[in-house]
Amino acid sequence: MISADDLAFDRQHIWHPYTSMTNPLPCYPVVSARQVMLQLADGRQLVDGMSSWWAAIHGYNHPRLNQAMSAQINQMSHVMFGGITHPSAIALCRQLVAMTPDALQCVFLADSGSVAVEVAMKMALQFWQARGEKRQRFLTLKRGYHGDTFSAMSVCDPQNSMHSLWQGYLPQHLFSPAPQCRFDDAWQQEDFTPFARLLEQHHHQVAAVILEPIVQGAGGMRFYHPEYLRQVKAACEQYGILLIADEIATGFGRTGKLFACEHAQVTPDILCLGKALTGGTMTLSATLTTRQVAETISNGEAGCFMHGPTFMANPLACAVACESLALLQENHWPAQVAAIERQLREALMPLRAEALVADVRVLGAIGVVETHLPVNMAALQRFFVERGVWIRPFGKLIYLMPPYIISSEALSRLTQAVAAAVQDAALFLAAQCVPTGAA
Ligand SMILES: *Cc1c(COP(=O)(O)O)cnc(C)c1O
Repeated sequence: MISADDLAFDRQHIWHPYTSMTNPLPCYPVVSARQVMLQLADGRQLVDGMSSWWAAIHGYNHPRLNQAMSAQINQMSHVMFGGITHPSAIALCRQLVAMTPDALQCVFLADSGSVAVEVAMKMALQFWQARGEKRQRFLTLKRGYHGDTFSAMSVCDPQNSMHSLWQGYLPQHLFSPAPQCRFDDAWQQEDFTPFARLLEQHHHQVAAVILEPIVQGAGGMRFYHPEYLRQVKAACEQYGILLIADEIATGFGRTGKLFACEHAQVTPDILCLGKALTGGTMTLSATLTTRQVAETISNGEAGCFMHGPTFMANPLACAVACESLALLQENHWPAQVAAIERQLREALMPLRAEALVADVRVLGAIGVVETHLPVNMAALQRFFVERGVWIRPFGKLIYLMPPYIISSEALSRLTQAVAAAVQDAALFLAAQCVPTGAA
């Protein structure tokens, strides 16, 4: 099904995420996937530990999701959203409004997480513009990740996303040090001091605070204390600044709460959703906001919100998102996620004793093993594939975020592979050759 010639073409002509065109790391051809198994072209089956980057929460090839898509295909795959609406968009937005905090009433559908972030930032800018104030800066946290388009990138960690490359081009936003107090540590009030100072100094210029609640994902897989988020919210209220919660990775149960903001009982003014929204089948994102923000924007100079993607509210994506949300409820995600969390703790925490391991942390259905040395990507990827698992490490992080439907046997295969990896120094790079990028 995939020939050597196909793979050579891929190497020569097709860009993969964060990959060199001249010296790409190897790619593994996957020809089908079912439940938690990915099937390689050579017939090997791999247990998926990544949920295709947080997305495939119900596993692959789910009959209900497939059925929802084919039913929609038989009506229409797509229709423009300007001047037209359709049942799948309405049904999805009803569900999103119902399942998120009461204050979030207005939904903007777009095509990817990065665009949801662009939309959120643009909403904040237009909100202040409409109020006759020129506020154009965002305050965020170091070690954050919000996507790869330019506005999203401008609030990503300046080092990880190499802001030096874009000097003079990227807007200069405000970065507070990453929270240090861990999710289940005792709260240390000093942790919030730098953020409080920055806001105190710059609040007149700040349009919004944007952050990933509780879990900083691609910027380091760090879990911080809910009290930090509570104090961010209180400070935003004190100064009348908007809070944008980027729950593109954390939304839909991954952290043990339906949305990570619930760990701190915080409601943002703007909420970004994506990744798991369609159960990993289609690209779709949603940005929700309050009626107050929506009305302020609509009463401003422009008279409308200035955004409208071609594939906005794509019916196929909306239909499958509705079905994925229905499955989420029916499958009792809290029990699924709690079982994964228990097993990840049991299997991964003992790895703290390994010489190569710097830290192990688990929250919800996310397990992270941080090593002292960066991984040798190509070698470690091969090692995992040979053990029948799909795990994609980056930097010094080997992490698991399996589909919620994973069995305990399949999860054991993942954790055993991680345990074997951290006993083999040959899979890690010497301290001096630290790679850049590589997702
Ligand atoms: C993945 C991610 C994004 C970007 O989403 P894309 O669909 O890749 O554009 C934004 N924010 C967070 C927190 C993410 O994890």
